[in-house]
Amino acid sequence: MAELDDFRAETRAWLAENCPPGARGPGPVSNGSTKIKITDPDTLLWLERMVEKGWTVPNWPAEYGGGGLSNDEYMVLLEEMVAVNARPALSSFGTSMIGPTLLEFGTPDQKARHLPKIARAEHEWCQGYSEPGSGSDLASLSTRAVDNGDHYLINGQKIWTSGAHNADWMFCLVRTDPDVPKHDGISFVLLPMEQPGVEVRPIRMISGESPFNETFFTDAVAQKADLVGEQNKGWTVGKRLLQHERSGMESLVSGGAKGGEMTLVGEAKQSLGEANGAIADPAWRAQILKYEMDNGAFRLAQRRAVEESEGGTPGPVTSIFKVCGTELQQTYYDMKLQLRGIRGYPDTITDTEDFYAADELETTKNWLFYRAASIYSGSNEVQRNIIAKRVLGLPD
Ligand SMILES: Cc1cc2nc3c(=O)[nH]c(=O)nc-3n(C[C@H](O)[C@H](O)[C@H](O)COP(=O)(O)OP(=O)(O)OC[C@H]3O[C@@H](n4cnc5c(N)ncnc54)[C@H](O)[C@@H]3O)c2cc1C
Repeated sequence: MAELDDFRAETRAWLAENCPPGARGPGPVSNGSTKIKITDPDTLLWLERMVEKGWTVPNWPAEYGGGGLSNDEYMVLLEEMVAVNARPALSSFGTSMIGPTLLEFGTPDQKARHLPKIARAEHEWCQGYSEPGSGSDLASLSTRAVDNGDHYLINGQKIWTSGAHNADWMFCLVRTDPDVPKHDGISFVLLPMEQPGVEVRPIRMISGESPFNETFFTDAVAQKADLVGEQNKGWTVGKRLLQHERSGMESLVSGGAKGGEMTLVGEAKQSLGEANGAIADPAWRAQILKYEMDNGAFRLAQRRAVEESEGGTPGPVTSIFKVCGTELQQTYYDMKLQLRGIRGYPDTITDTEDFYAADELETTKNWLFYRAASIYSGSNEVQRNIIAKRVLGLPD
């Protein structure tokens, strides 16, 4: 206990000295992509210092660029970052999805080649899972990988590939045996995006942005050295990655992360006025109180599950985080927009900052974007099936 207190004191002092003012509160966060240039000096300085300390991936082993922190130390670091409103220095598919998966399933060579690059923000990854016709029924995927000596030749199509246009590498589920039951013929491979056989076409969303893509493979190459787990056993690896994705571990750093703390009290007081220090309108007060309590309970439950799993990512219980976390995000943006009245509903494609503040446009874009939250990473209906089967043990 005394050791943890010392660690807290050292961490607090280090953050006070090393977290620049511009890295506190909402702002840019690197995802490691070589194709995105961050220019904000404080954000860059923060990233450089966190990389040096190993705290972009605090609980990874030091040999892979991590901080080697124990679970308890990691929790202390998160708490201290929240206390000073520090943004994460790095937030990527590398840190939250493929990195933890390689730590569990990767060969020594795969760990040595890929993990340090993720930790140092030198590469971003994308996820090649969904295909037209294979979303919820992911195991029906048909992108084919054929053994060609020291590599696989891949042909087929992925869809909804978030960030593929900026990614350096993809982790991908491919069919290596079409003649066995569907779950038994899938392999999990890694491939570089910059190669002639990979073509990325953007898909535009309702918010006007194109964060995701169709990805086409024509004799794309994945080296055998980048097969994760055994050939035809990729379903197990792919499922575990989804648990890392759904755990929302990163959101435990809620203080300065991305949109900042998800509270509505300040906004409501500003829009509706105050009575005796509380939100003036009683109906709104009740709604916001319920939301704030649900949000607080969710964060505590999430944290308890992480602590109970001793710092590792929990298993099927992550589906509960996914359902509750995304529904809370949607509620948050629904209420935030309603509080803003007509200023909450600009047309994010045609309206400009001449008429709406940047924050108003941003909030509406987020509201539109988070409509997708109950679909991506496995739809919430499908998560409820997993909870019924794997958490509650109900029969099929
Ligand atoms: C913003 C966004 C980003 C994404 N990023 C990625 C990415 O980076 N990489 C990637 O591979 N994929 C990505 N996806 C794809 C995502 O994983 C799929 O959209 C999702 O799994 C649902 O698949 P689908 O769209 O094919 O819908 P379908 O599977 O066709 O489902 C349609 C509807 O039927 C319901 N349904 C289906 N089966 C069942 C069932 N058994 N029980 C109850 N209801 C069911 C679903 O809940 C849904 O409402 C992204 C999606 C979005 C929206």
